[in-house]
Order: sequence, then structure tokens, then C-alpha cells
Amino acid sequence: MKKTKCALCEIYDNSIILHDKNLPLDGISSIEYAPRRKRDYIHYRIVKCKNCGLVRSDPIVDSSLIDDLYEHSGCTYSLAKENQPLKKTYGRYVDELLSNNKIKKESYLDIGCSNGFMLETAIEMGFSNIRGVEPSLDAIKQASENIKEKIIPGMFDLSKLGNEKFDLVSFFQTFDHILEPNKFLQDVREILNDNGFVIAINHNIGSISYKFLKEKSPIIDIGHAYLYDLSTIQKIFEKNGFNVVKVFPVQNSVALSRLLELMPITDSCKNILSKIQNGLRIDKIQLPLYLGNLGIYAQKI
Ligand SMILES: [Zn+2]
Repeated sequence: MKKTKCALCEIYDNSIILHDKNLPLDGISSIEYAPRRKRDYIHYRIVKCKNCGLVRSDPIVDSSLIDDLYEHSGCTYSLAKENQPLKKTYGRYVDELLSNNKIKKESYLDIGCSNGFMLETAIEMGFSNIRGVEPSLDAIKQASENIKEKIIPGMFDLSKLGNEKFDLVSFFQTFDHILEPNKFLQDVREILNDNGFVIAINHNIGSISYKFLKEKSPIIDIGHAYLYDLSTIQKIFEKNGFNVVKVFPVQNSVALSRLLELMPITDSCKNILSKIQNGLRIDKIQLPLYLGNLGIYAQKI
């Protein structure tokens, strides 16, 4: 295990413990790193910097091991149930960003693009050149044929992108997984065209759902290296050469069946409620909810 430092203050320690670790006794496997797997409440020790309030996992396993775990993690999305609501939620915010700012629609990059559902959206929105980066090989396998060839496998790495530059870069539910957020944002800045934009959506540790659910919140998860709120996300973008245009709580469209999966209740309760949902045929109903995510629009300066 390796100690981590506050990504804003660049110091180790000087933190308070929010939650003690809850790790499997038989070691960490790629199962725990699969996105949207069944809730298991597995996480590292979670601490908060006394100086700036940024929350992080500390200590964590070695980063090379984590890269490997992501590569072998499965994609647990089932297309109809999961992608449509995500596409709708993220698409709505990309749309807002595009309509309120002067952004060329030539090139778009989605980091952590899973099976590329946002790349499809970007094409529909008029982007001519699209690219994705995704560590999970299983997720890439599930991309449609015309999208698959646009996805670079592995972690985001400048050398894999050659001289390509982008007008818009997005990362959805990705940034809190990044072990070195300062290097990551500097690399993103590097591949953006002058005055290019970023849109990111990830968990919000300042949300009411976290205050209510605490350790049972899906935010507290082994995959999250850092956890941001509206203030710390703004600071880390500003620290790395971005002008923050807007930070905001995100309204998600959530299927009733997904909401049930997220609830901190026993499996037998879930099974009963799930049968009721299916019986009433209401499992696919979409609810607009503030689920505890935040969004940010930022521009390269
Ligand atoms: Zn700090």
C-alpha cells in the first residue's frame, strides 16, 4: 500500500479520517474495479485534507496494479437499461455547453468512454472527428463497429494520441478515478486546441445523498482516488490552467430499476421490490433526480 497526498496542497497527512478502510481479506481483484458492479461497500480509508477539504483514498495499492485491474475489469452495463439514461443526462449538458459557448464541432475526445455511447451522441451533434479512450477491453468489445475503431485501449496517454488536438474533451464518471489529477488535467490541456473546452461529470462529496448515506453511499468506493465537491473541483481545474465557466449539481435521469440497485437495503428486500416493479412494468420509468453528481465546464487558458 502507498500513501497518497492532497492533489491541491501537494502534502501528505494533515488530514482527518472520514471512513476507515473496508477491504476484502483475500486481496483486491478486478471484480472490485468493475464500474457499476453490484454494491459491495469496498473502499480504502477515506481522508479529508484539513487545509483545503479535498477528500481522497489513503493509502491505496500501487498504481501499476490499478491500471492492470481496470484493463481486466468487465463492463457491467446492460445497454438498454444503463446507456440510454446516461446518454440523455450527459447529452443534455454537452448540448447546454455547446449552445452557450463558441465551440468548433470538429474534434471531440471522450476519456473513459466505456462502449462509446457518448461518441455516438457527438456524431449526432455534428462533430466530424471523434475519439475515445477506455481501459476496459470488455467495454470496447461492446462498442458498435463504426465506433470501435475510434477507441484507443488503455489509460489516457498523450503518446497514444500523436499530434491530434481536440475542440472538446469530456470525461464522465472518470475524473475521481484518476490517481494523478494534476498530471491528467495538464495532459488534457495539452491535447486541447487553443480556447478548447472540457466537460466533466463525476460524484459530488458535498451532495445531500452523501450526507444522508455516508459510508453506504456509492460515492465511497475503492475505485475513487479523489472525491470532489463544487469548490475543490473548481480549484483543481484552476490550478492546472483552466478558466472555470460553470460548476453545478447534476440532474440525472435514473431508471427506477437502477435506483433500486443503489438503495442501501438487503438483497432479499431488493428482490421483492424488483418483482413488484417488474409486475407493474414500471422498472424502466425514468426519474429526474439529483443523485449526488457534479458537473464542470472549463476552458483552456
Ligand atoms: Zn489539501
